[in-house]
Amino acid sequence: RIRFAGVTKSFGDVTVIERFDAEIPDGEFLVLLGPSGSGKSTMLRMIAGLTGLTGGTLEFDGRKVNDLAPDQRDVAFVFQSAALYPHLSVRANIAFPLMVGRFRWYHHLPVAGRALRRAFVRDAEVNRRIERAAASMRVTEFLDRRPRALSGGQRRRVALARELVREPSLYLLDEPLTGLDGPLRTELRAEIGALYHRTGTSFVYVTHDQDEAMSMATRVIVLNDGVVQQYGTPGEVYESPANTFVARFVGSPP
Ligand code: ATP
Ligand code: MG
Repeated sequence: RIRFAGVTKSFGDVTVIERFDAEIPDGEFLVLLGPSGSGKSTMLRMIAGLTGLTGGTLEFDGRKVNDLAPDQRDVAFVFQSAALYPHLSVRANIAFPLMVGRFRWYHHLPVAGRALRRAFVRDAEVNRRIERAAASMRVTEFLDRRPRALSGGQRRRVALARELVREPSLYLLDEPLTGLDGPLRTELRAEIGALYHRTGTSFVYVTHDQDEAMSMATRVIVLNDGVVQQYGTPGEVYESPANTFVARFVGSPP
């Protein structure tokens, strides 16, 4: 459960999120929908603990996020521009979050590459998790390749698999399908949807694509200029838009 109470975020004297209140129950697929610059990534980074709040409180299962270090919050975060480690195989890329937790070698990547290869081949549970994550993003056949031998869309799948492997209690995905072509978007959208339905894990999913939001969300937050315009189910937002901005943005008649 995530609870926002008067959450405010400013950069200097520019307020990017203004007094945001919401309570998001467990097991929801929450979509943050809004135009470019509306504050979606900032909101996600606050949930992940990668940036602080200027005001208000943000609680995660009853604990203030400010009190938790990023590695104490059982979350997986796929960045808007997720990059793979080029010198590691796909398998080692996916294994990385599991191994980093154990060895904390992330500032010695080339060393970690060799050590990772040795360590994870011996660990059956790690292998099972890699296989599960790879299968759900359909990258099993690429496990022994390097990222440079993959297409952009395949890399994106690996970046998603690298987060799925954590099997967290919350997924934070920032426009994970941006830059992919139509058919691939549709396919990955379905795979993320299937993962949600299979695991029942909570998601916070950022997009500026209305269609993506409406088809994936169980709840939607519509943002504009850092101000929440509406919070509701896709049906509510579509059928009864709170204002003309929402009506125009989600495409139903005002
Ligand atoms: P997009 O769809 O383009 O990714 P977004 O909704 O994710 O947009 P944010 O990245 O949250 O938007 O940015 C919201 C506003 O905050 C923007 O006007 C941006 O310029 C500003 N902003 C974000 N990060 C900073 C920062 N570190 N310092 C100053 N301003 C920032
Ligand atoms: Mg963004």
